[in-house]
Amino acid sequence: MDYDTLKRDVLIIGGGPSGLSTALHLQRIAPHLAPRVLILEKARYPRFKLCAGGLVLDAEIILQRLGLDVREVPHVDVDSIHFDFEAKGLNIRIPKRHALRIIRRDEFDNWLAQKAGSRGIEIKEGISVRSIIPDKDGVTIETDNSTYRAQIVVGADGSNGITRRSIFPNTPVYTARVLEVIIPVRRDAISPHETNYAYFDFFPVPHNIAGYVWDFPTQVNGEPMRCWGIYDTNLLSNEKRPQLKEPLAQEMSRLGFNLDDYEIKGHPIRWFSPENPMFVPRVLLVGDAVGADPIFGEGISIALGYGNLAARAIKDAFQRNDFSFRHYKTRMLLSPLGQTLLARWFITNIIYPLKWKWFQVLLWRILKPIVITVAWIFVLNWGRRMSQK
Ligand SMILES: Cc1cc2nc3c(=O)[nH]c(=O)nc-3n(C[C@H](O)[C@H](O)[C@H](O)COP(=O)(O)OP(=O)(O)OC[C@H]3O[C@@H](n4cnc5c(N)ncnc54)[C@H](O)[C@@H]3O)c2cc1C
Repeated sequence: MDYDTLKRDVLIIGGGPSGLSTALHLQRIAPHLAPRVLILEKARYPRFKLCAGGLVLDAEIILQRLGLDVREVPHVDVDSIHFDFEAKGLNIRIPKRHALRIIRRDEFDNWLAQKAGSRGIEIKEGISVRSIIPDKDGVTIETDNSTYRAQIVVGADGSNGITRRSIFPNTPVYTARVLEVIIPVRRDAISPHETNYAYFDFFPVPHNIAGYVWDFPTQVNGEPMRCWGIYDTNLLSNEKRPQLKEPLAQEMSRLGFNLDDYEIKGHPIRWFSPENPMFVPRVLLVGDAVGADPIFGEGISIALGYGNLAARAIKDAFQRNDFSFRHYKTRMLLSPLGQTLLARWFITNIIYPLKWKWFQVLLWRILKPIVITVAWIFVLNWGRRMSQK
């Protein structure tokens, strides 16, 4: 076993959007730290990541501020998004621009990793971290075949990550269950479901599935496809619930598809609650390791935003020679990212437990102006307000 002692000051575990964003933000606000950062990624790029790949405007704003143009990544632009209950509801379009941009995560994360590499960030691929042990002088990180020491560790290793499990083994975890299928576009039929529309339908809520079925356009290797899936926050898990597959199959069959013809994949999403722990001295968590948006499980923009906050906390720690990170959670909650996550957590705890059909009809079909205003003020538009220093 080789002992790669104190070679890096900042060791980031996981090279998804949150880990790469932390490194890219550090490189921007504290370039002298960039050569002292190492990312350990267990897979090799371009690696598969189960995700529908919907990028909201806030993600694009954060990337632009890092000097990155996501149009370099193959993508599909969505012109309008429907938020429906039983196929009727509200429709969002943004004048003169796309409402959502869909990327594939293998391509997007590979692109982001190349950008980090070209800016002097070292990434070691194919290295799986096994344990993280902080002490007062640093952190010991054990991987499959080596042991590292670092001044600071950033746990960017996703919903099931080892960092959170090592540091907070007994804390409650709020996790959504999610299924996804990719299906070819039917060339013989022209319907809104086969053009650039994205749908969220909350029809499963009265059946104790606290979430929605989605249907997005996407592309795989340049071929137009549709990405379908179902999301359940698990907030109604004490009630009798159908299998997650059932409502998805029902909705797909309504539109002429048989779910059994396609490969279904599932992955949990850990979602944000203000109770979720985020740090111990010398260790910070970012991205899904803390928690994604609970309403939709939207986590790419959120992961990119966590990177901004973690980079500033790390820069501050080196400046003050104080690695306690005792202000990280408060600053996070007070930041535009923290404010949107708190709002989304609050909204989640209203719209899903009030599961009755009449409420869901009221919400998605009748209260449209209120829903759009609340979304515009509290849910979206936080990326622009993030500090750039
Ligand atoms: C089915 C599904 C659909 C989704 N759709 C959307 C969507 O449309 N839009 C959206 O915004 N969000 C979506 N999300 C959520 C989004 O995928 C996540 O929020 C986002 O990936 C979080 O980024 P992250 O960097 O925190 O974690 P991840 O993207 O999970 O990255 C973690 C990285 O850490 C690595 N890693 C893990 N363990 C170790 C280890 N022990 N050692 C070294 N490396 C390790 C992994 O290989 C991975 O590269 C979806 C999620 C799912 C499951």
